[in-house]
Amino acid sequence: TAPLLQVNDLKKHFPIHGGFFGGVTAKVYAVDGISFDIAKGETLSLVGESGCGKSTVGKALLRLFPLTDGQVILDGTRIDDMPGGTLRPLRRRMQVVFQDPFSSLNPRMRVRDILAEPIRNFGLSKSSADLEARLSALMDKVRLPRDAVNRWPHEFSGGQRQRIGIARALAGEPDLIICDEAVSALDVSVKAQIVNLLQDLQAELGLAMLFISHDLAIVEHMTHRVAVMYLGKIVEVAPRRSLFGAPKHPYTEALLSAVPQPTPGIQRQRIILKGDVPSPINPPKGCRFHTRCPYAFDRCRTEEPALRPVADALGEGHVAACHLHDRPAADNPLAGAKGA
Ligand code: SF4
Ligand code: MG
Repeated sequence: TAPLLQVNDLKKHFPIHGGFFGGVTAKVYAVDGISFDIAKGETLSLVGESGCGKSTVGKALLRLFPLTDGQVILDGTRIDDMPGGTLRPLRRRMQVVFQDPFSSLNPRMRVRDILAEPIRNFGLSKSSADLEARLSALMDKVRLPRDAVNRWPHEFSGGQRQRIGIARALAGEPDLIICDEAVSALDVSVKAQIVNLLQDLQAELGLAMLFISHDLAIVEHMTHRVAVMYLGKIVEVAPRRSLFGAPKHPYTEALLSAVPQPTPGIQRQRIILKGDVPSPINPPKGCRFHTRCPYAFDRCRTEEPALRPVADALGEGHVAACHLHDRPAADNPLAGAKGA
């Protein structure tokens, strides 16, 4: 079956204006040609360090700004080149939960109005009785008391506010929710509750999720597949078990080495990457990771590796962009399983 969301060669470059005439003097290659898809009811996590472009992907999908290039196909319909008006019915199907539950809710609106706004905008409610029923159903879904709709955002804790943010995202009955660091700002115990809620909702409603996060410990707990981004590119995509058990890209391996393990004594050996993430204004030639990769060799400095299928004993559907996989297994440090 066709995927719910299909993204083909998505690019978002931000021009930098400067000089005497204020012309474009450089570009930030924030997202530089990435492709992925999400099936109905699937969670795909998009991970990477801050500045890798993952939030830009989420914003581009929501059409918060025009794309530089590429295609976005939602349930068979191209939405990247649609004018705003025609986009509205499709917008309903793709909703977002933001990182900060304190700034994402309008402090001058009661919860009821925050939730009623999308219901009305999308023309979902036929009568005031129907609207009330929808508000109650939304509160039930996010496990908040129904009468809390009459309260103001400041009366809630961070976790409760995030539940309201999720209820708002659900108000339009979406097929896909984009969670952009949706639990990153929350306390550890609250984080787990919100992640569990998202998982329950996904099972109940058959929702697909794009879970944008820098936190691999959380991703490991709740995702179906993972896509790893580095400097505007996807460098690896794999089902959860394969990615965490047998990473096939040196960057992924390094990221995983920093994730604390629940069982003592099996901590992965920490890989400290040299240097900082290079600027997306002038990404390195060849493999963009070569300036920091512990395994870089000559070819890496000149030839960009393509994202392609790699052998993985743990499962199917594993792709990575790394020249190591052209070498014989004996000469490829990522040929086997690396999992703890
Ligand atoms: Fe490292 Fe080379 Fe693979 Fe890039 S292509 S990740 S530099 S080994
Ligand atoms: Mg971000």
